[in-house]
Amino acid sequence: MVSDTASKNPSLLRSPLLWRLVAINGAAVLAFLIASSGYLEVKLRSDLIREQYLDLHARARMADSALMHERGDLQLSARMLAQMAGTRLTVIAPDGTVLADSEELPARMANHAQRPEVVGAMRDGRGTDQRVSETRAAEFLYAAYRDLGRPDAPVVRVAMDGESVNRRMQAIRNTILVTVAALFVIGLALSVVAARFLVRPIQVVRNAANEIARGNLDVHVELDRKDELGELGGAFNTMSRELMLRVGQLEANKRELSAIMDNMSEGLALVDGQGNVTMANTAAARMLGLSAGSLAGRPLWESVRLPEVDELLASLPELKEPRRIWVEDHTNPHQRRVLAFVATPLFDAGRGQILAVLLISDATEDQKLLEMRQDFVANVSHELKTPLTSISAYVETLLDGASDDPNVRRPFLEKIRTNTSRLTKLVSDILTVSRLESGTGDETRTQLDLNELAAASVRRHAESAEAKNIRLSMTAADSPAMALVNEEDFLSALDNLLDNAIAYTPNGGTVEVKVSRSTQGVTVEVRDTGVGISAEALPRVFERFYRVDKARSRAMGGTGLGLAIVKHVAIKHGGRVDAESEPGKGSTFRISLPSPGSSGRLAASDRT
Ligand code: ADP
Repeated sequence: MVSDTASKNPSLLRSPLLWRLVAINGAAVLAFLIASSGYLEVKLRSDLIREQYLDLHARARMADSALMHERGDLQLSARMLAQMAGTRLTVIAPDGTVLADSEELPARMANHAQRPEVVGAMRDGRGTDQRVSETRAAEFLYAAYRDLGRPDAPVVRVAMDGESVNRRMQAIRNTILVTVAALFVIGLALSVVAARFLVRPIQVVRNAANEIARGNLDVHVELDRKDELGELGGAFNTMSRELMLRVGQLEANKRELSAIMDNMSEGLALVDGQGNVTMANTAAARMLGLSAGSLAGRPLWESVRLPEVDELLASLPELKEPRRIWVEDHTNPHQRRVLAFVATPLFDAGRGQILAVLLISDATEDQKLLEMRQDFVANVSHELKTPLTSISAYVETLLDGASDDPNVRRPFLEKIRTNTSRLTKLVSDILTVSRLESGTGDETRTQLDLNELAAASVRRHAESAEAKNIRLSMTAADSPAMALVNEEDFLSALDNLLDNAIAYTPNGGTVEVKVSRSTQGVTVEVRDTGVGISAEALPRVFERFYRVDKARSRAMGGTGLGLAIVKHVAIKHGGRVDAESEPGKGSTFRISLPSPGSSGRLAASDRT
C-alpha cells in the first residue's frame, strides 16, 4: 500500500514540481506586493501633499486677514507672521510685484505674476505649486491665497520646505518595505504548504505507478481526501485492480497455453513472416532432433535443414490455406522416419500473412500402415489371381472339348473344386483379418474356461489328425482356466494353430495341446513334432501372407493368413503369442491371455 499519510516524505523537499509551484506563487505574491506598495506610496504621497496644501492655504488665509488692516511696515509684519506660522510668507500685488517677503527683500525679487500658484490665486482665489525655489535653491510647496471679494486684495503666499514631506514619505516607505518583506515571507511559506498539499498525492500516485512498472501489480494508493486528487487515487486503484485481474488472466491463459503446448504429442511452432520461430513446444524440438528451446528466437531454416519445409512456408501466402507435406528424415540412418508437416497461414486484415502455424507429427507409423495396406491389397490381388487363373484355365479347357473325355473331366473338375475351396478359405481369412484389424463385428466377450475351448478345438481336429496318423492329445489345467474371451475369435485362433500343427507334421507325428495357469494368466500351448521353422523365418511367420514354403503351404490349403489371425486375436484380448521352433524337430505356439483378475495387458512379444 502506498499512502500520503506517511509522516515524513524525504523526497518531498527534493521535488522539482514543489519548488516550481513555490517559485510561481512567490513571484505572484512579490508582484502583487510590489504593485500594491507602489500604488500605496503614490496615493499616500498625493494625500500628504494635498493635506499640506490645505494647511498652507489655511495659514495664507489667516495671514491675509492679519495683513488686511496693516498700514505699517508690511515687510516687518510679514516676517512676524511667517515666524508665527512657521513658514515663509510672501505678499504679492495683483500685478505680480512682490510687496513683502519674510526671507528676502522684495526689491530684489522678480515679478511673480507668472508663478503658477499666483496665477491660480488671481483666477480662483487659490493656487498651488511645487518646485525648486529660485530664491532658496531647494524644493518648496507653494500655496497662494487671494480674497476675490476685495478688488485690491494682494496675493498672500506661504511656502513650505519640500524636504519635510520627503522625510515623512521616507518613513512611510520604510514601514511599507518591512511590511512587504514580512508579507512575502508569509506568502512564500503558505506557497510551500499549498504546494506540498498538491505535490504529496501526486508523488504517492507516481511511486505507485513506478511499483507497477517494476512488476509489482498489487499496489493500492491511500489518498484520504475528497477532491480531484482523491478521485485520482480512487481511479488509480481501480486501474491497478483491473490491471492485476487482466494480467492474472493473461498469465493463466499463457500457463494454460504452454501446458497444452508442452503436453502435446505433436510438435507446434509459430513462424513469423520473416521465417523466424516465435514460439515452439518441446515436442517440435524433439521431433526435429534438437534440444528443447533451441528452435524459438531463430530463423527456422537455421535449425531445420529441410528444403521441403522452407518451400512449404514460402508457398503459404499464395495458397492462403493449410497445406500438408510428408518428409522422410534421413538424419538417423538406422531408423527410417517420416515427419508430417501441416502449415496453416494466419492472416491479419491490414498486413497480410503475419504468422504460420507449423504442426509437426511423426508419421512413420501412419506411413508404415499405409504401406502395409498397399502391400495387403497387392498381396490379396495376387493370392486371388492364382486360383482364379487356374479355375478359368480348367474351365476353358473343359469348354474346348476336354469335358467330353471322362478321364480328363473328373480330375479337372476336382482341380476346380480345390481352387474354389481355396478361394473360399482365402476370402474368409481375408474377411477375418480385416474384421479383427478394424475392430468391427461381434466384440462380446464372456468368461470362459480355456480348457473347454481347447478341448472343443481338439475334438474338431481329431479326424484330420487321424487321417495323418498323428497322435493328438490334450492336457488341461488342473482347475478351470478362466479368461474373458470372444468365443468365436478365440476358437478360430486355436483352430488355426491346430490346422498348422497337423498340416506341418508328417504322418505318425504328435500334436499336443496344453492349457496351463500361472499368476499372470492362462496359456494355451500347441506343440508338434513337425517340420519346424528356421530361425530366420520364425519372426516373420505372423506376417500376413508370409509362408516359409509357398508350394507346401498351398498344397496344404494354407492361405498364409492363419498366424496373422492368431496374432490379432491374442492382441485383441490383451495377450500375446510366442513361437519356438527347431527345424526338423517341431514347433511350439503359445497364446497367453491375462486372467480376469489382472487388469494389465501382457507385454507383447510379437506384434509385427
Ligand atoms: P498358412 O496358411 O500358410 O499355414 P500361416 O499364417 O498359418 O499360413 O503360417 C505361416 C507360415 O508359417 C506357414 O506357411 C508355414 O510355413 C509356417 N508354419 C506355421 N505353423 C507351422 C508349424 N506348426 N510348423 C511348421 N511351420 C509352420
